[in-house]
Amino acid sequence: MDTRALLDLDRRHVWHPYSPMPGTTTPYVVESASGARLRLAAPVAGRHELIDGMSSWWAAIHGYRHPALDRAVRDQLERMSHVMFGGLTHEAAIRLVAKLVEITPGPLEHVFLADSGSVAVEVALKMCVQYWQSLGRSRKCRVLTWRGGYHGDTLHPMSVCDPKSGMHRLWLGVLPEQVFAEEPPAGFDAPLDEDYASSLEALMERCAGNLAAVIVEPVVQGAGGMRFHSPAYLRLLRTLCDRYEVLLIFDEIATGFGRTGELFAADHAGVSPDVMCVGKALTGGYLTMAATLCTGTVAAGISGGEASVLAHGPTFMGNPLAAAVAHASIELLLGQDWQAEVKRIESGLRKGLAQAAGVPGVRDIRVLGAIGVLQLDHMVDTAAATEASALQGVWLRPFRDLIYTMPPYVTGARDLARIGAAMTAAAVAG
Ligand code: PMP
Repeated sequence: MDTRALLDLDRRHVWHPYSPMPGTTTPYVVESASGARLRLAAPVAGRHELIDGMSSWWAAIHGYRHPALDRAVRDQLERMSHVMFGGLTHEAAIRLVAKLVEITPGPLEHVFLADSGSVAVEVALKMCVQYWQSLGRSRKCRVLTWRGGYHGDTLHPMSVCDPKSGMHRLWLGVLPEQVFAEEPPAGFDAPLDEDYASSLEALMERCAGNLAAVIVEPVVQGAGGMRFHSPAYLRLLRTLCDRYEVLLIFDEIATGFGRTGELFAADHAGVSPDVMCVGKALTGGYLTMAATLCTGTVAAGISGGEASVLAHGPTFMGNPLAAAVAHASIELLLGQDWQAEVKRIESGLRKGLAQAAGVPGVRDIRVLGAIGVLQLDHMVDTAAATEASALQGVWLRPFRDLIYTMPPYVTGARDLARIGAAMTAAAVAG
């Protein structure tokens, strides 16, 4: 089918993320992708190929069509693509789960495989609520989080997204009401703000009788605003959760698998949550799968309760294709000096984004691990910024006041320089 016919059908029938129907903007048609490049069906700004600055929303850490990952999917396909997970099990899932237990913080030892990040967060919240129910403390069913967060688009995860950017006012009476602390003070290297710590403790103390859990994105708040905070706040949360008998959930769906410079962002703080979610880069961006891990204490609590089972079981749970490629992706990551690669990207982004310092409207430039952010003092004109970066040969997807990148770890020095130039051009245009 020619590109124009495809786009016509797309506009009339395909609902894209965060979009009206029919669509008001024209997406780029991707014909294929390999390495850190997207190949377009029709040229954009005269280019058939764009450098991918987004890793398909944090997921494609090894780039596209990696031979080891292609092989893992193909090998699994020869055995089976799917079987139900109730009453059946298989090597692909077992090997993946064992690997996840091995590489995540020590006390996490049980794994529930989910089919997307939002579902993994649903399961995490359900685990915590069910844990307290099992212990006969069913009043503990609310969740505390700090503002500026993002945890997914299904209803319970939405309830712990930032109330303003998550537009909670449109969902009054629909979303469960949760408890919100202020945003954590900004800055990965900033010292712990004692006033913030005291007000967080006061809030926890006041609400603990109703709290099942605290949920946060450790170190980097992603889709809620691309803000970085000090690992000291994670240690603080661990202390407060222990003191006031509240479970701690880390949502590592965006930060996991090396993105922030440690394998998991929790490792910056040296603390372990009671429950942890991973997703996105779990499968190297190949297939949809996420996972919720928990401690033995959480699992024993749930299993010893009246229900005695965790009340969840998606149809495509533990999908063998996804599990096989996830295992291969983790092996591929750990089999190389990934920390050096992420550091290389960090310094490339620092260098590349320095040129944006003098651009009018650029309020802040921040880089952590393989994440680079330009924050503007106004809302980005997304269409103009996207076009400006495409003109430089780079695919970016700015939102709100943010032009940001989290490139695949295989991105080379020249491509990184072009990403820096494209982000700067986007800031000028948008
Ligand atoms: N939590 C975080 C921190 C995320 O960044 C996302 C996805 N942007 C989610 C949860 C939801 O994941 P999914 O889109 O796979 O449902």
